[in-house]
Amino acid sequence: MFYFGVDYYPEQWPAERWPEDARLMAEAGLNVVRLAEFAWSRMEPQEEVYDFDWLDRAISILASRGLHVVLGTPTASPPPWLMAQDPALFRVREDGQRVTFGNRRTYCPNNPLYHQATRRIVAALAEHYASHPAVIGWQIDNEFGERCYCPLCARAFQDWLQQRYGSLDALNQRWGTVFWSHTYSDWGEIPVPLATGSSPNPGLALDFFRFCSDSYVAYQQVQVNVLRDRCPTHWITHNLMGFGYDRINYFDLARDLDLVAWDNYPRGYWDMQADVDASRAALSCDAMRGLKDQNFWVMEQQAGPSGWETVSVAPRPGELRLWAYQAIAHGADGIVFFRWRTARFGTEQYWHGLLDHHGHPGRRYAEIKRMGAELEQIGERIHGSHVAPAVAMLLSYDSRFAFQVQANNPQFTYSAHFHHVYRALYERHVPVDVVAPTADLAAYRLVFAPALHVLSEEVAENLRRFVQAGGVLVVTPRTGVKDEDNAVVELPLPGLLAGLSGAEVEEYDSLPPGAYNELEFVLPELAMTPPARASVWCDVLKPSSATVVAHYTQDYNAGQPAITLNRSGQGQVVTIGTFSDADLYRALAPWLLDLAGAQPILTTQAEVEVTERWQGQRRLLFVLNHTDHAQEVALDRGTINLLDGSAPLTGTVTLAPRDTLVLETQ
Ligand SMILES: [Zn+2]
Repeated sequence: MFYFGVDYYPEQWPAERWPEDARLMAEAGLNVVRLAEFAWSRMEPQEEVYDFDWLDRAISILASRGLHVVLGTPTASPPPWLMAQDPALFRVREDGQRVTFGNRRTYCPNNPLYHQATRRIVAALAEHYASHPAVIGWQIDNEFGERCYCPLCARAFQDWLQQRYGSLDALNQRWGTVFWSHTYSDWGEIPVPLATGSSPNPGLALDFFRFCSDSYVAYQQVQVNVLRDRCPTHWITHNLMGFGYDRINYFDLARDLDLVAWDNYPRGYWDMQADVDASRAALSCDAMRGLKDQNFWVMEQQAGPSGWETVSVAPRPGELRLWAYQAIAHGADGIVFFRWRTARFGTEQYWHGLLDHHGHPGRRYAEIKRMGAELEQIGERIHGSHVAPAVAMLLSYDSRFAFQVQANNPQFTYSAHFHHVYRALYERHVPVDVVAPTADLAAYRLVFAPALHVLSEEVAENLRRFVQAGGVLVVTPRTGVKDEDNAVVELPLPGLLAGLSGAEVEEYDSLPPGAYNELEFVLPELAMTPPARASVWCDVLKPSSATVVAHYTQDYNAGQPAITLNRSGQGQVVTIGTFSDADLYRALAPWLLDLAGAQPILTTQAEVEVTERWQGQRRLLFVLNHTDHAQEVALDRGTINLLDGSAPLTGTVTLAPRDTLVLETQ
């Protein structure tokens, strides 16, 4: 079945209200609730004194209305009695300050006392609900993240390094600690890269970021073990934070989970955007689907204005439904809105649910009720169908972490660069998989490796294999610069890919803000007016076997190659020498797609999003109008509109503002 529900906190409301909430949920077509993720102090009010009676009653009321339950383990927000036991339970920030009680996510993920308390509450909860008929699965903790720099973590980091390097000689050599006389003679001398230590050794810093990521993977595993042991029939997930979150290697975190879930907030209070860039949520969906190469859930789908101290722009009429369908269009098999009713108390007083504080259904509830009715009709036909792109982008957490140590240019961020490339494909209605650099690439025609900075021989070989077999590979600046120890390679750039690229980086120029060079394309089909711009970073390329696609036209680089194309085996490699901005990738996208023989799903305007899901030969086409005005879309073949069950559609259809079509073709 297609799961459609809400995050619900019965402990925050009088029990007399619960039946009314359950009734309204069922009337809106909801069939699942996530419960208990922040209720530790209600479930274990004193150490080893448990109270699940209230939760039993809440679940029984919800189940009587046909709602299934996902239980959250409550460890993201520990009770005061636990945190009062030892100051070492609190994590230490990068500036060396220990956090204090007051928010959530305050714990050190390596603290043994915290692990012990975690095992206890998760085991008690799991044993109590293992055979409850309404419970279908578990969400572990909530939004893992935040690096800890405490003394316990420092010691665990030293152990982690010992495992990785075996000997101090190896570590000293690979980190290059001879520089500035940092040669370590005892594991205990190795620090964590506190901000007070200023710019750290890049090898040490990258390893520390990997260690921090591994710490959460290991902490999650503590809970996975308890749950698998006691609840073998339930699935296990965690709610990740989409493409934007860059402190944990999500490929590693996803490995031990049965399914990936993530939290989708297109209108954040933190950025106060008047217009939502719909490609951001699309990228997050694709990145989350790529973690396990399987469909996912959205465990927190925006249900109203978000807010802590300040409040986001209110979702416009139609947006909640549109964003939820967008996630489905990219592979969601479950949508859970955060949250049911807006809290009257606490930090998230202004993080709005489907119902406002007063608890009466309004505009947002009505919108989701409409969608609930639609999914009751068509959910079965969507569930389990899959997205099948011919284009992939390689997401490298090692490279991402390395750029957090050294951005290379103050205007550069890996995330923004990745998004620029993605958006050019998104706007042309080209479906994209976001996968690990080690993923099997055989299914793809075109692969982008944006700023693949830390490059191992294993990944280089994977890319060679892909190109030899006929694929088109696109690389951008700062690729192949670092080895796995975050040392600069002793090779001409792009390092291990220089042979494949058929061009070397002769020299590079890091540009100041506002500065740019112009690009002149040798290929007539790429001629642009006004000319495409190079900015942020300019590699001067020196082709060996590659042909020149574009030159710089200004400054001391005038006439030098900026983009090249190399044939290798059955395939081709395009080397782009400048980061530039989204416009360059928009300009290059049609040419690159042609080179690879990859087709857009439909040719239509960029503001209308088009995706498809497949079940055998049956295609579900999702057409989403992200604008506040009607859009006309020319269909490529006859279809049935599943949402209104109307007669077949052909030719040009009109899409109302912020409306969605779900079309089926055989
Ligand atoms: Zn710690």
